[in-house]
Amino acid sequence: MSFLFRRPGALIVLGSSAIGGAAYRYTAPPSSSSSSLNPHDFTPYTLVDKKPVSSSNSIFTLRNREGAADPESVKEAWRHGVWSIQIKQPQLQIARDYTPLPPTPDVADDNDTELHDIRLLIKKEEGGEVSNYLHRLPEQSTIEIRGPKLEWELPDDIKEVIFLAGGTGIAPALQVAQAMGHRPGTRLHILWANRKREECVGGKSDGTDAHKVLRSPLGSWKRYLAFGTAPSPGQKPLARQGKGAIVQELEALKKHNASQSSGLEVQYFVDEEKTFIAPQDVARRLNPQQPCSRVILIAGPDGFIDYWAGKKIWIGGREAQGPLGGVLGKMDLRGWSVFKL
Ligand SMILES: Cc1cc2nc3c(=O)[nH]c(=O)nc-3n(C[C@H](O)[C@H](O)[C@H](O)COP(=O)(O)OP(=O)(O)OC[C@H]3O[C@@H](n4cnc5c(N)ncnc54)[C@H](O)[C@@H]3O)c2cc1C
Repeated sequence: MSFLFRRPGALIVLGSSAIGGAAYRYTAPPSSSSSSLNPHDFTPYTLVDKKPVSSSNSIFTLRNREGAADPESVKEAWRHGVWSIQIKQPQLQIARDYTPLPPTPDVADDNDTELHDIRLLIKKEEGGEVSNYLHRLPEQSTIEIRGPKLEWELPDDIKEVIFLAGGTGIAPALQVAQAMGHRPGTRLHILWANRKREECVGGKSDGTDAHKVLRSPLGSWKRYLAFGTAPSPGQKPLARQGKGAIVQELEALKKHNASQSSGLEVQYFVDEEKTFIAPQDVARRLNPQQPCSRVILIAGPDGFIDYWAGKKIWIGGREAQGPLGGVLGKMDLRGWSVFKL
């Protein structure tokens, strides 16, 4: 997802950050009266667990402080596609969007559970106000959130999705995997790019797509722009023992979806191992079929989205898709549509 804020309402735009985010000030004190998550007021949750998954990313688990059940809007959001919540930084009065990870399949299948914790994969952005604030918070702290906000709706006639995910862009990919797991006969291909192996320890690609691209035909600067910065010289992958938390969640979803006759295939690409998503990784998955039922989704840092599909634009204070550009803009997509998250 590009790191932008799109909620209008009782907020005033203060300015844009370097990665395209806008900071907002609240004009009125936020209300915390609602005990259930809702899009209008901030609701207090308790940070019950914070588990590091790499040197910069952690999974945060938030629990409704009043024990209120998930509202219908959250249940609907899980069924329909990609959604986010917003977290407030109370001292600075700014807020940022984050994408809940799906409940693990064992929890999701427990029909008696009316309340699910909200789990978030949050990257500590260097110099980032809200992400650093969150990473500094001790467990049992109160975190105020609001939502859900639907970012993209899975079409009813969806058959196949190719998901290009950069870094924490894997969170919406997991949401799509979860939703497609309830649609037998569908197929999801996730191509997940990370700068470092530590984000996806133990992740093995289905098939053999992770190309060794030592010299990209695009030139090295463009190649690195495909995800982010170049690996620093001498940087070594971390030990590959065991499996990273997100890799385990992807594998659990793969099993779960297979049991529901829905296919999930994952390819891992790691900058520091010089494996990069290439246009042919996308091209070979573009089965020519009816338009609209097949979609390419892209989520990750702005540079990743720009490189693959061109910049998103602002129209009348709202973020819009903008024209299709980048690598995908030059390819024959055979009727597949593209959506930038
Ligand atoms: C729909 C949506 C879903 C998202 N989901 C997730 C998710 O699941 N997980 C996740 O980790 N993130 C997610 N994000 C991104 C998240 O919302 C934040 O943008 C991110 O955490 C950074 O916020 P921050 O306040 O920490 O950084 P900011 O303070 O906004 O700064 C961001 C970066 O810009 C730099 N910067 C800021 N201002 C300047 C300046 N004036 N000059 C130079 N550099 C500057 C900072 O040093 C930092 O590196 C999502 C974004 C959206 C829109």
